[in-house]
Amino acid sequence: MNRVYNFSAGPAVLPEEVLKEAADEMLDYAGTGMSVMEMSHRSDRFQRILDEAEQDLRDLMKIPEEYAVLFLQGGASQQFAAIPMNLMQNRVADYIVTGQWAKKASEEAKKYGTVNILASSADRTYSYIPDCSDLPVSEKADYVYICENNTIYGTKFSSLPNTKGKILVSDISSCFLSEPVDVTKYGLLFGGVQKNIGPAGTVIVIIRKDLIRDEVLEKTPTMLHYKIQAEAGSLYNTPPAYGIYICGKVFRWLKRMGGLENMKQYNEKKAAVLYRYLDESRLFSPTVQGKDRSLMNVPFVTGNKELDGKFIKEAEQAGLKSLKGHRSVGGMRASIYNAMPIEGVEALVAFMKNFEKENG
Ligand code: PMP
Repeated sequence: MNRVYNFSAGPAVLPEEVLKEAADEMLDYAGTGMSVMEMSHRSDRFQRILDEAEQDLRDLMKIPEEYAVLFLQGGASQQFAAIPMNLMQNRVADYIVTGQWAKKASEEAKKYGTVNILASSADRTYSYIPDCSDLPVSEKADYVYICENNTIYGTKFSSLPNTKGKILVSDISSCFLSEPVDVTKYGLLFGGVQKNIGPAGTVIVIIRKDLIRDEVLEKTPTMLHYKIQAEAGSLYNTPPAYGIYICGKVFRWLKRMGGLENMKQYNEKKAAVLYRYLDESRLFSPTVQGKDRSLMNVPFVTGNKELDGKFIKEAEQAGLKSLKGHRSVGGMRASIYNAMPIEGVEALVAFMKNFEKENG
């Protein structure tokens, strides 16, 4: 077996322990004589998997009773529509646009109501987080929306925006469980799991229960109505059962790792190895500065497209995979999610140092 260091932005590296456990249980899960993939989602055994996954997530994120946890499908992108459909009572929402994902979410929301762009960092290719301490929040806004960690650009909100009393909705796809969060500051948090938690196909929505309403926009599809999903305990239809099972294993792995406070410290240590080198390198430059830097996605460039291409190719050959930046921005990006060991980041930096010596 030859595992590589996988820096993909998602689907992304998962803890080896979890993959091995899943492999061991593939043919016979806990004496049931079948794989979880083959198991009825209405069975007691699967219900236990779902209940334990929810409880472990609640423990890790300290999710209060007043919040519901939904395991859904359709990825994060489907939530771009579900959120306005469920939350737009006045048909007004404010969006802070810090990258492609927030922009896509705002464009989707425009189909359902008036969308105000409160702030944007498009002027400098989304390489920073705008000051959100005193924004002109709309009086009738049903919510204020952010994408908390910008996967493509490698920025993260270091403090939450001042929403002036309005509900905060946050896409946490690429920073999910990477550090502790105060759930009570949000009305709704959601994320696709394919970066930090599990296989693509599951999206988790954490929503304050009073925002789960009977009254939603007309013609909201049944599958997108939070109330229906919540009342069915995420089992309105066949859920992404195998994905939920893997998420549950990752939650347990995180507990064994000492929870989110420990994960944050480990992630800071890992990111510091890479940022420290990027700050001193004469060949590579980081594209984000200071407090806006993400711990999860680290973009960098040489300033020369051909050299970027050479670097990516040679890194691939050395077992450092998927370092190509997003197709919309080019350059390189190292995604160093929870399951990326520090040895992977050290191997990357050692390779970069050597590349700098040969090409600088
Ligand atoms: N939000 C963020 C922050 C993302 O990084 C992504 C995917 N890379 C999405 C949303 C879209 O997720 P999905 O593909 O699950 O729809």
